[in-house]
Amino acid sequence: MPACNLLLSGAIHFSGCMATQDLKLWRPAIINHLYWTAASTPTGDPDEMQAKWQSMINHVQDIHEHSSPAFTSCAHPPLEGEARNKEWLEPGSPAATKLESVAARKALVKDIRQLSPQHQTFSLEAYHSLILHFAPKHTGFSFLGMYSRLLLAALHFNSNGNRDVARTSEGEVRYAVRYPRFRKGGWVVHPIKEKPSYGYATNLMVSLVEEYCKSPQALQESSAVLSSAASPPLTSSVQKVAKDEAL
Ligand SMILES: [Zn+2]
Repeated sequence: MPACNLLLSGAIHFSGCMATQDLKLWRPAIINHLYWTAASTPTGDPDEMQAKWQSMINHVQDIHEHSSPAFTSCAHPPLEGEARNKEWLEPGSPAATKLESVAARKALVKDIRQLSPQHQTFSLEAYHSLILHFAPKHTGFSFLGMYSRLLLAALHFNSNGNRDVARTSEGEVRYAVRYPRFRKGGWVVHPIKEKPSYGYATNLMVSLVEEYCKSPQALQESSAVLSSAASPPLTSSVQKVAKDEAL
């Protein structure tokens, strides 16, 4: 989706007139809106995504009702108080006209209609990269070392899976774009979560100390049982052959 990538990478510049400064203020919100367009449309309906994207042209002019039946009004709550305090573009002003000409560009709209709503697969991707974080591939671990690290990764993932989404100071969900390998150069959007917590590690250490205080012996026995469950190294199942014979 070259045009969208162009927009995301910042290659689209609002330049060449007085409108530039007004539009620059809106740029982060517009990019956020692009992520939201895909992420809020799990069916991937092209008409809905196009209508959502183009509603932004109205929104920045303080117009929140839209003519498209696919998306008739903005999804944000009514703007009151501080939330109304924005640099709205004057309808018909050079800035508004410029924005419309960029956002309604045929090639860009065509790409918007094909945005991937697959941000939900990000969860699985995140789990895989979390495993790599706890058990990096470049280091060899013993069976028990690997086992413990996989358990830690699962604990971390489960205790952080329901984190709240991060929001802007105006209460809007923040989105980010990722380029997962399985998309082969394509990209997906996903909501940014709040920072993870490590409370599970503290709980783990507390119960370990408790178990130890109760009975060091029992803990040692559990450890021995785990160790005995270790499977033999893979290489031990390989039948050795004499080099001369192999040659
Ligand atoms: Zn709006």
